[in-house]
This record gives sequence, structure tokens and C-alpha cells, in this order.
Amino acid sequence: MSLSLGTMGLYSQNSTIPSSVKNVEAKVDSVLNLMTLEEKVGQMIQYNGSWDLTGPASETGNKQKEDRLKKGLVGSMLNVLSVEATEKAQKLNMENSRMKIPLMFGYDVIHGYKTIFPVPLAETASWDMEAAEESARIAALESVAEGVNWTFSPMIDISRDARWGRIMEGSGEDPYLTSKVAVAKVKGYQGEDLSNPKTIAATAKHFAGYGFAEGGKDYNTVNIGENELHNVILPPFKAAADAGVATFMNSFNTIDGIPATGSESLQREILKGDWDWTGFMVSDWGSIAEMIPHGFAKDKIHAAEIAVKAGSDMDMEGGAYEAGLEKLVAAGKVEEALIDDAVKRILRVKFKMGLFDDPYRYINSETKKNVPYKEHMSTARDIAKKSIVLLKNENDLLPIKTSVKKIAVIGPLADDKDTPIGNWRAQGEENSAVSVLEGLKNANLDAQITYAQGIKLGMGERSFLMPLKINKTDTTGMGEAVRNAKNAELVVMVLGEDAFQSGEGRSQAKIGLAGLQMELLKAVHKVNKNIVLVLINGRPLELSWSSENIPTIVEAWQLGSESGNAIADVLLGKYNPSGKLPVSFPRAVGQEPLYYNHKNTGRPFSAEHVTYAHYTDIENGPLYPFGYGLSYTQFDYARPELSVESIKSREKATLSVAVTNSGDRKGKEVVQLYLRDLVATTARPVKELKGFEMIELEPGETKTVEFIINEEMLKFYNASEKWEAEEGEFQLMVGGNSEDVQSVKFNFSN
Ligand code: BGC
Repeated sequence: MSLSLGTMGLYSQNSTIPSSVKNVEAKVDSVLNLMTLEEKVGQMIQYNGSWDLTGPASETGNKQKEDRLKKGLVGSMLNVLSVEATEKAQKLNMENSRMKIPLMFGYDVIHGYKTIFPVPLAETASWDMEAAEESARIAALESVAEGVNWTFSPMIDISRDARWGRIMEGSGEDPYLTSKVAVAKVKGYQGEDLSNPKTIAATAKHFAGYGFAEGGKDYNTVNIGENELHNVILPPFKAAADAGVATFMNSFNTIDGIPATGSESLQREILKGDWDWTGFMVSDWGSIAEMIPHGFAKDKIHAAEIAVKAGSDMDMEGGAYEAGLEKLVAAGKVEEALIDDAVKRILRVKFKMGLFDDPYRYINSETKKNVPYKEHMSTARDIAKKSIVLLKNENDLLPIKTSVKKIAVIGPLADDKDTPIGNWRAQGEENSAVSVLEGLKNANLDAQITYAQGIKLGMGERSFLMPLKINKTDTTGMGEAVRNAKNAELVVMVLGEDAFQSGEGRSQAKIGLAGLQMELLKAVHKVNKNIVLVLINGRPLELSWSSENIPTIVEAWQLGSESGNAIADVLLGKYNPSGKLPVSFPRAVGQEPLYYNHKNTGRPFSAEHVTYAHYTDIENGPLYPFGYGLSYTQFDYARPELSVESIKSREKATLSVAVTNSGDRKGKEVVQLYLRDLVATTARPVKELKGFEMIELEPGETKTVEFIINEEMLKFYNASEKWEAEEGEFQLMVGGNSEDVQSVKFNFSN
């Protein structure tokens, strides 16, 4: 389809972009030059499109919105959830407006569109960046088939607090690992070139600090300093910006008293200045107007002024830009040049997406027919099994032996087809996942399988918007579960969280197994000790009792559409588990925030050199550390060796470590490299992940993994407010998780 921009300027002769206007920047300028202020401001407005766009807009508010669409006074819509509605909205805009600037259609495609993949925290546990890219590529393909051309993903907020419900949406506590995921996701969604109609624009969110909400309470105040901001929070965003992410989303929280949405330093100075990023910044839902309750803006107009000056380019369903921007320019409070900058950024993305060539490119029934949904399911299963983390495996229960003839499958989530779909499920249908019970049955075992729910976890309706009611009283099914357990050789117990227990606005002060789950587990444990505990959850759980008493624990997270099949693959040994935790699991919730890359205190409390803060009533450190996960085989690490013990700028050293599979099964291991800067101009973490490599070894096989150590790896945001490596001694650590490491010392000088 060709562009028809009416009878103006550059587009007047043949209704197409003249061939003389070749590059995107020239095209952007040529369009911008033709726009009125009202039209420019329109580009900066995003509407929620949840009304029935295909029918008459009966409500006044919707009518007004449709009128604005016709005038070309809307830049984008979100949540327009049918091809028909998307087409209608685009038509209202394209066929009636003067400038005919295509709309973008955004949606939260977080872990799949129709085919649902593991929630992001779970997928990160695979440490498999090809998998992270592939699930994003598939999500993009399925999204464009229904008119969605922009996802509000990846969420790359570092989070160290399991109480925060949105921890499920990110990649955990480590900036290096999250940066790798950020790049993989951007590549997966956007492909090589955004103009490819099988790709969608991605969003790096939430900029910035959102995951550091005080007390883990969603939306809460963030109090961090420059050191933490630059060394921990910003690196994944920088990685996404460098990878060419089309858009950023800012965040609801204040940082050190300034709402992120109104932060000039974050948006204009760091992101658009220092990093030279050319995409556009969308606000979070109403976050511009939210500066009013923050006590930072007196009304919507004031909020619009602060936000536009700070560098927020598009107002998501907040009404502030609509209410304020034109007035602010007219009153001389906001220079039109600022509006121009925002609009240029928006137009740039639209041009790069090829929307000016074909505004309807994503609304194409042919594309829809050609989406290979079936094939996507096998990829979903593959990624799901890679995301499972084996936390404990004693008494030789796993993999389940063929000699086991009676298995009791028990628990509120054992035959739950909805919970594995998790929160932020896009178009993933309710009850569409394979349950654990189904997965085991699909495997056609030569064993009798009984099933008892035992107890219900949630009560009544559950949805994204409703807080979950947990069952605390109904024990009707408990007796049957205990009887089944008594008669079985092995119990597969499936517990965890409800689908919507983790997610936005789902912070919790308690992170144990909710409701009657512990009662059920203990009752079953009284009659049968051979329990394989399978956990389906979005956040780290408090598992101290289970870890002491239950021989086998499998962290299966919310794995998406193929959950039960993937879990069965692991339980039956068809897949040797290889996942590693992207986040620390605490012994008790009171330890939160808990993270491996902490700093020391000055006070030794043990003979060890470890000097970090502790409580007197609990063993220090996590129950299961960052990077941890078992396999059905055993990996032995030889002493790591350095090629040279000191390097200067631009030189490099090689750290090699030989890893041997000393067990009797083929398996995969994620070899992890950590580093500590022993003395620096600011206190540095006791260790930080700096590299990892996944290797696969046959029984008895040894492979040597090599990590290149260079100046770049030693850099951090230091006391001079520069990203640089400082001279001195470093400790390099290698191992299969963040605690179980061997270290060597090494020196860097300029
Ligand atoms: C969330 C964002 C999301 C947006 C649109 C907000 O409440 O914080 O992450 O993209 O809604 O649904």
C-alpha cells in the first residue's frame, strides 16, 4: 500500500514519499514540518482502546476519543484487542485525518501472545539466551498476526525482593544476566530490522528503579543513590538502548524524591544525552498525572510541563498531555522545540517500522493463517523444561524409576490448567496449560497414577485486577489426599502460587506456601516420606521447612502452555534439569531484600573473611543462592587457571577451568564467572557475575571453559562518577553457582 498524505508539501505530487527523501531522518523532518501544534501534541497521546471500537461509540468519552482519532490527534493505542478493532481504529485515523500518520498498537506481550512461554523470571533460569530470543520472536509473530505491533516488554528492572509481586516479570537480581536477557529479547521482538512485518517494537521498562520499591511494596518510594543506580539498575537499560530498542517506558516510582516520569536527569541527560538513544519514551499508565498525588505537580497541566521537559514523549492514558501541552506552548512555558523533539522520536520509530509504507501491514488475515501455532508449542515445551530448577534431590527419587508402580499426584495445582499461564498472559487462554497430572498421563507410564486435589488454593473469581482470596478453611479433600499418599510408592505434590498471586500490585508480606498448603504437605509427609515437591510460582518462596523435610524439590515456576509436559520430561528423566536460579531464595522473608552481589560490612562475624550483615536468629545467607541448580549428573570443577596474573589496559588474560561430568548421565552445566574488586574508590560487591557459559557433557567427558578477562569487565561507576576500571587487585571466581566457587587473584594496572 502506498502512502497518501493528501495534498501537502513533499507528498503533493504522487501521494507517496518522494524517492528523493531517502533516509528516515529526512522523512521525519519532512512530515514534522507539515504538522500543526495540535497534530504534534496528538502524536504524544496514547489511548487505551478497550471499548468496542467495532460498534458505535455510545459513551461520550469514547465518542470524543473516536473524534480525535479521525482528526489524527492520537499517536498510539494500547489494548485494542481484535484485528477488526485495530483495523477500524487505523481506518478512522488514516481515512479522515489530515496528516495520515499511522497509529502504533501497543500491548503487554510479556511471555508470549497466544503460545505462552515461562514467565520472564522462569525463562531467565534457563540461562539460555537463544531461548529468550526465540520466545520473543514467536511472540512477535503471533502478535503481528492480530494487529499488535508494539510490546511493552522486556521488563528489565533488577529486583532483589521476593515480596515485590513483579519480580516474576523481570530477570531477577543480577545486572549482567538481565542485560543479556534484555539484548536477547530486543533481538527477538525487533529482529534485524523493524521494517520486517514479522517483528514488533520492543520497550525497555520501567525506567528506572521500579524494582527497588521500599519494602517490596509495588509503586513504593525508591531510595537509592547514584552508585546503585549506575552500577545495578542502569546497565540492563544501557544494554537495551545499545541493542536498538525502539521505545522505553518510564516508571511510577520516585527516586530520591523525584518521580522517574519527571526526572530530567534519567530521561534527558542519561538516556537521550549520555547514551545518545534516539527512540521514544512512553509513560507508564497515567504516570504523568500520578505526579499529582506524588506531590510533585499541582495539576495535570503542571504535570505535563514537568514530564515533557524531563523527556517523557508519550502519555499513556493519562490525559495530562491532552489537557496541557498546547496551553503550555501557547503560554510560553514549554518551547515548541521540545514538542518537536518528542514527535520526531515517535515518527522515527513509525518510519522504521514501515508503518508509513503500509499502515495496515499488521492487520493482515494472510499473516494470521500462516502462523505455525502448533510448532510454537514444541518450542514452548523445550524452553519450559530448560527453565526448571532442581533445588534438592535426595533419596534417589528423581528421575522417577520405571520400577515405581504407584504414584499419587496431589495438590491444589496438580491438575490446574490455568496457574502455569501466570500473570500478564496476553491472549493466552484461561485453563489452556497442560497440567502436571496431564503431563504425567501423556507420558503413558507403566504405573498407576491417582490424583487428589487435597485442598483448593484460591477461592472464587481470579483475575488480573482482583486480589486473590486464599482458602484458609476448607479441608474437605485432605482425607482423600492422605489416603492416596499412604497407598502410593511415590507422591508428586504440586504446590505454589495462584496464577495472579505474583504480578503488578501483588506484593506480599508473606512468601511461604499460602493457605492450607503447608497443612496438606505435612499431613501427606506423615504417611509417606517419598515426596517430590513440584512448585508452580512466580516469585521466590520461603521453603525452609520443605527444604529440611522433603527429599526432592523441583522449582517449576509458571512455565506457560506446555508446563505439565515439560515438568514430566524432567521428573521422568527425559530431560536432565539444567536451570539455575536468577534470584536468591531466602530462609525467611525477614531476610528480604536478599541478593548475592551485596557489599560487606566492616564487621567480621566469623573466622571467615565474609563480613556481611546478618541476623542472630537465622543462619546467614540464602536457602538457595543465585546461580544454583542441580542436575541428575555431577559436575566437578578443576582449579581455575589464569594465562597471566596481571594485565594492563587493552591487554587481556584468559581464565580457564576444566569441568568434568563425573556422573552417569549426559547433562548441561552453566559455568559462572564472578569478580570482586578488592579495593576501590567506592565499596564494591563481594562478587558480581561477569560471564557464563553453558556446556553439555557426556558422562566422563571434560571440557575446558575459557573466559576472557579484560579491562571492560573491571569497569564500574566509581567515585569520580565515571565508568572505568581502577588499578589494583581483583578476585576472579568460577563455579556452578554464586556460593560454590574457587577463586584466583589477579592484578590490573593502567
Ligand atoms: C504497567 C506497565 C504496563 C502498562 C500497560 C502498567 O500498569 O506498570 O508495565 O505496560 O500498565 O498495560
